[in-house]
Amino acid sequence: MRGFEVAVAVIIGLVVGSFLNVVIYRVPRGESIVTPPSRCPRCGHRLSAWENIPVISFLVLRARCRACHQPISWRYPLVELLAGVAYTALALRYSNPLLLAGLCIFAAVLIAEAIIDLDTRKLPRRVIYMATPLSVAFLLGDALYSSNVRMAVDAALGAVMAGAVFGVIHLIAPRSMGFGDVRFAAYIGINLGFLGIAAVVYFLYGAFIFGALFGVAFALLKSKTLKVAIPFGPFMALAALLSALAAGLIRVL
Ligand SMILES: [Zn+2]
Repeated sequence: MRGFEVAVAVIIGLVVGSFLNVVIYRVPRGESIVTPPSRCPRCGHRLSAWENIPVISFLVLRARCRACHQPISWRYPLVELLAGVAYTALALRYSNPLLLAGLCIFAAVLIAEAIIDLDTRKLPRRVIYMATPLSVAFLLGDALYSSNVRMAVDAALGAVMAGAVFGVIHLIAPRSMGFGDVRFAAYIGINLGFLGIAAVVYFLYGAFIFGALFGVAFALLKSKTLKVAIPFGPFMALAALLSALAAGLIRVL
C-alpha cells in the first residue's frame, strides 16, 4: 500500500482546493490571484493563518467570519474536499511523479473552470493560459523520462481531436457552444491524449451523455423554462476527470 503518498495527496489536494477558491472568486473579477492575502468577502477582514486552514477552519469557525459573524459559504470547504478527493483518486491510479504532478494541475483546472462556468457562464482563458505551459512541461518531462515519445504525439492529436469536435459545434451553434468551450476542450485533449486517444473518446462521449441526461432531467422538471442556458463546462470537467481515472482500465478501443 502507498499510504504515505495518499496522505500527501489528500493534504496537497486540500491546500490546492483552498487556492482554487481564490481563483474561482478573483479570476472572473479580473483580480490578482497572488495579492492581496485572503479576506472575508463581506467585511474585508484579513484571514490569519489559522483561519485559512482548508475545511478545518470552516468547521472551527462554525461557518461564520470571526470579525463580522456573517455566514461563510459551504462552497469553500466543498471545493477543498473535491480537490482532496480528486488528488487522492489520481494518486491511487498513477505513480509516476511527473505524470501525477501534470494530472494534478489538470484536475485543478477542471475544478476551477467548472465552477467559474456555473457562476458566470464563461470558461476564462486566463486559467487555461496559465496552466497549459505547466501541464505541457510536466507531461513532456514524463514522456522523456519514460522514453515514450508516442504519448507526446497522442497529446497533440488529442488536443486537435477534442478541439475540432467542439470547434465544429461552435461554428454551427455559436450561441450554445462558445469559444471558451473549444479552448477548454483542446486543453483537456492535451492531457487525456497523453493517456491515450481512447481517453479522449471516453471524454467526448461522457461530456455529451452527461449534458444530454441533465438537459432531459432539467426539461422534465422545469418544462416552462426550457430556454435557460445550461453551462457545458461542468459536464466536460466531470467527463474529463472520470476519463483520466478510467484511462487504460477499460479497453473498448
Ligand atoms: Zn467578515
